[in-house]
Amino acid sequence: MASHEEDCSPNTLAFMELAIQQAKLAMDSLEVPVGCVIVEDGKVIASGRNRTTETRNATRHAEMEAIDILLEHWQKNGLSKLEVAEKFSNCYLYVTCEPCIMCAAALSILGIKEVCYGCANDKFGGCGSILSLHLGSSEPLKSGVDTRARMQGLFAIVAILGVPLTIP
Ligand SMILES: [Zn+2]
Repeated sequence: MASHEEDCSPNTLAFMELAIQQAKLAMDSLEVPVGCVIVEDGKVIASGRNRTTETRNATRHAEMEAIDILLEHWQKNGLSKLEVAEKFSNCYLYVTCEPCIMCAAALSILGIKEVCYGCANDKFGGCGSILSLHLGSSEPLKSGVDTRARMQGLFAIVAILGVPLTIP
């Protein structure tokens, strides 16, 4: 496998640095320190950090926070479901830790183009560590960015969660 930092473009590292800043904000708030940014056309369009303790809601992971910002914004702007799906299909997610199974399933259903994560999540990882639920997941950054499609993931979501593959 090709490896290490030569596979990481300067942009990738810059976006990951922004995700780390979000993780630091989470840590400052006594949350599990995970942060992310969502990028479209080379620009950060949303960011998120864990807020599970603050909200007393175990689903408020960094990825969900960022996704909800975009969904609210795009729905306010009157985008159709098709347009929202198209927007997500052009988005990249940079997250400090491999998305959990819940988030990986959501990212796949929404059609996020690619997920780039900083470290593997050996307990709950949904982008290869435990299950492969996202089609465009990278290996952890230290192993290089890899965009191999993981077709089995798409079918795993349907089988495990019984989730229809449509935009909510
Ligand atoms: Zn998660």
